[in-house]
Amino acid sequence: MRGSVALSGRRETGSPTNSTSARSSAWCGKGRLYSIDFLAHGAAVTHMRANSCHHAGVSPAGRRRCCVLLSGGVDSALVASLLLNDGWLVRALWVDYGQPAAPAERIASQALAGHDALEWQEAVVGGLMVPPEGEIPGRNDLLVATAHACAPDWSVAIGVHAEVAYPDCSRAWLSAWQSVLDVQHEGVVALLAPLAGLRKPEVLALAHELQVPMTLTHSCETGPSPCGQCLSCRDRHDDHAGA
Ligand SMILES: [Zn+2]
Repeated sequence: MRGSVALSGRRETGSPTNSTSARSSAWCGKGRLYSIDFLAHGAAVTHMRANSCHHAGVSPAGRRRCCVLLSGGVDSALVASLLLNDGWLVRALWVDYGQPAAPAERIASQALAGHDALEWQEAVVGGLMVPPEGEIPGRNDLLVATAHACAPDWSVAIGVHAEVAYPDCSRAWLSAWQSVLDVQHEGVVALLAPLAGLRKPEVLALAHELQVPMTLTHSCETGPSPCGQCLSCRDRHDDHAGA
């Protein structure tokens, strides 16, 4: 059965803060662990690489604009922080695709966007059959496509990290989606996955190091309170630094 898909959205702007500049030096100092443009290939990406971490603090120029898929979890919050620290102009998109934790995720996403004074946009995709937890086949395809449709001239950033068995978290998947974007934008629009080389404990450690506001995030896949059983809850259980 194929459900109807309706796309709607609205934009808000979070309350301004000025917390990014202080974190820039931390980002540059630890840049060896991750790469904003790890997927980059092609001429346009070369341009982005030339303006990457080594030039943090330089005003963003040209097309260094990125729509972050800000789910409300730690991973995407960290991605936004990394991009801000690297000088990108960042906007946030939260997608409601009928996930069980949508209300809690939405609150967290808005709060995180407000913390960093990001423009925040919501998109609603209806008619999907979403399991209560675990893998949702095609979910990340949906997220990237939605972000691309909402902000066609902006790069897209997603918070996938290493050691996740789902196909749509793999480097092959990321590379394939980059190829799709390249067809339409001749290499100018990138799919950024700066956490793709990091395991979850490394993600959590980096989030603490960069002072990501962990208390604003929401991680459980099943609902508003941590179930302790889903993959996201188990990942957070490993967050010994934040315990
Ligand atoms: Zn859970």
